[in-house]
Amino acid sequence: PCTDFDVAYFNSYAHVGIHEEMIKDRVRTDTYRAAIMQHQSYIAGKVVVDVGCGTGILSIFCAQAGAKRVYAVDASDIAVQANEVVKANNLSDTVIVLHGRVEDVEINEEVDVIISEWMGYMLLYESMLGSVICARDRWLKPGGLILPSNATLYMAPVTHPDRYSDSIDFWRNVYGIDMSAMLPLAKQCAFEEPSVETIAGENVLTWPHAVKHVDCYRVTLHELESVSTRYRFKSMMRAPLHGFAFWFDVEFNGPAISPASNHVTATFAESSNDQPMDYSQRKKRPNPNEALVLSTAPEDPPTHWQQTLIYFYEPIPVEQDQLIEGSVTLSQSKENPRFMNIHLEYTSGGRSFVKESVMR
Ligand code: SAH
Repeated sequence: PCTDFDVAYFNSYAHVGIHEEMIKDRVRTDTYRAAIMQHQSYIAGKVVVDVGCGTGILSIFCAQAGAKRVYAVDASDIAVQANEVVKANNLSDTVIVLHGRVEDVEINEEVDVIISEWMGYMLLYESMLGSVICARDRWLKPGGLILPSNATLYMAPVTHPDRYSDSIDFWRNVYGIDMSAMLPLAKQCAFEEPSVETIAGENVLTWPHAVKHVDCYRVTLHELESVSTRYRFKSMMRAPLHGFAFWFDVEFNGPAISPASNHVTATFAESSNDQPMDYSQRKKRPNPNEALVLSTAPEDPPTHWQQTLIYFYEPIPVEQDQLIEGSVTLSQSKENPRFMNIHLEYTSGGRSFVKESVMR
């Protein structure tokens, strides 16, 4: 059933600003267009469903790639504009806009292709992947194509002294006044909740850890309810550890290739290399499938997703080669299923603590 949470969520997509931001994110939109064109021979003459079409842009790219029919589904009122855009581009014969939830609308045929831009901050925030799973299970033909085909969420320890001094050390001397009394409140306000911001490769202390792989062909709703992992990093430098950064990438593989975990293997292979080197200098991993990748990593060109930071309240000094260990659990919030609870355990260098936060 459609809940009040859903109503608020879909209303947020009725504003132009959010679509403008996504479309102006060239890394995002160009990669989707390139992926559609790369699979043109598969898409031509086929039936496509665009899960969450927004303004209709991906549906129109698919029509341009020769799709026979595209079902452009969106529950937000932006579907009204999508329909106008389709008409104005003389694509009404090909693109059928359905104003409703993927979970509720009727499509009376099987589809060959599912396209969707479902990724939220930290990949899983917004929980829209569940709607892609729903579309897949309702309509996708066996052997059909899902774009993107797979996704990986990463985390890595970071140092960010500038951010810390901007928000915290600032209070130590304000116009010559000692405002250190503000520090507890400043730390709470700055670091209680996850923070979406852009960091640089230089902020990252070592190779990332893959928190979760999603194979869009096989992922189930159940495995998304709670995602848990243990992490173990070896810092490549001596630096104050301020917390962890999370980011993701998605790949656009064809249906025949079983989504490769090969890039993770590559990450681990690199991290077992004891030669200390700057993370930001890392080479692009080899991509044997030639699949297009949309990356939101700190060392890659910035996107509107930026990175998501979980800061500690106090920096922890780490030495080169020091181990940084613990676990993290991401789960849907009981307060609102679109929110995400982040449970972070840190047990390293004789210290151990738990940090709970909520991404709202
Ligand atoms: N495809 C567009 C918009 C992506 S944003 C683009 O690439 O620019 C995601 C869109 O999915 C939003 O417009 C949101 O309203 C829609 N959406 C999310 N969950 C949905 C669901 N269950 N059913 C229908 N639309 C959904």
